[in-house]
Amino acid sequence: MKELEDRILSEGIVREGDVLKVDSFLNHRCDTQLYDHMGAEWARLFAGEPVDKILTIEASGIGIACVAARHFGNVPVVFARKTESINLDGSQYRTQIHSYTHGRDYHVIVAKRFLTPGEHVLIIDDFLANGCALNGLLQICEDAGVSVTGIGIAVEKGFQPGGKSLRERGYHLESLAIVDSMDPATGKITFREQ
Ligand code: 5GP
Repeated sequence: MKELEDRILSEGIVREGDVLKVDSFLNHRCDTQLYDHMGAEWARLFAGEPVDKILTIEASGIGIACVAARHFGNVPVVFARKTESINLDGSQYRTQIHSYTHGRDYHVIVAKRFLTPGEHVLIIDDFLANGCALNGLLQICEDAGVSVTGIGIAVEKGFQPGGKSLRERGYHLESLAIVDSMDPATGKITFREQ
């Protein structure tokens, strides 16, 4: 998606440790018009495929997913919550995720009553790196007995293994921008032709 690539080129900052900062439009200040165009693009890419619900993860996924839902017939959005507390009453799906940017593990939960077995779920998130966040969401989908229609990602770092692994496992993965290389010394970013 050229508009997203152009924003990454003009405002993205390449940090050591393979981190791309896009705080000015995606992860801190939110450009809702860009979100709207991203939602329209995912709707085009997943056209004709069933979507009953969008699943994402807090925090940055929420805004993107909510705007995208407007392009999928206003389906509900459910976000996995990050939590420290342990709830043993069995009312939640729960999984552990390793955070790429914070270098630690955390738990996420989704209330069982917000995922219905058999429904079709589109997963949306801001970044795909090693795939830990998505694998956690996929685990929750499997536990819930929902069918994963596909995965929509804003920025995939194609030089990290998450995207390749998910495509090999047969998921319909649509990343709107795939960064093939980025250099913290020069700031140069290159994208995969799509
Ligand atoms: P993964 O779990 O695929 O390794 O990493 C995905 C998650 O880590 C995303 O949800 C995102 O929050 C964060 N993340 C990974 N790499 C980057 C990055 O380069 N920039 C930003 N802003 N977030 C990232």
